[in-house]
Amino acid sequence: MANEADRAQIHEETFRAASLARTKTATGPEPLVIDGQVCCANCEEPIPEARLKALLGVGLCVHCAEEGETAPAQGKDEEEKEEE
Ligand SMILES: [Zn+2]
Repeated sequence: MANEADRAQIHEETFRAASLARTKTATGPEPLVIDGQVCCANCEEPIPEARLKALLGVGLCVHCAEEGETAPAQGKDEEEKEEE
């Protein structure tokens, strides 16, 4: 089956591109590779290829990235309001 080899090559190229991009951007955790599929470093869900291409080197799925973005920054505002 040449089909499987082709798919393996596509996965390899995708992950290599992500790894190369990561050395330039180097933000967030490194993605996991499970069965040749690039997966979220947090929940281990596969990251869609469209997201990998849009955000080269991304290591989190959409859900985990959103949680990470909203969580840390908001504590400050609440503290400031209490002081007033
Ligand atoms: Zn995730």
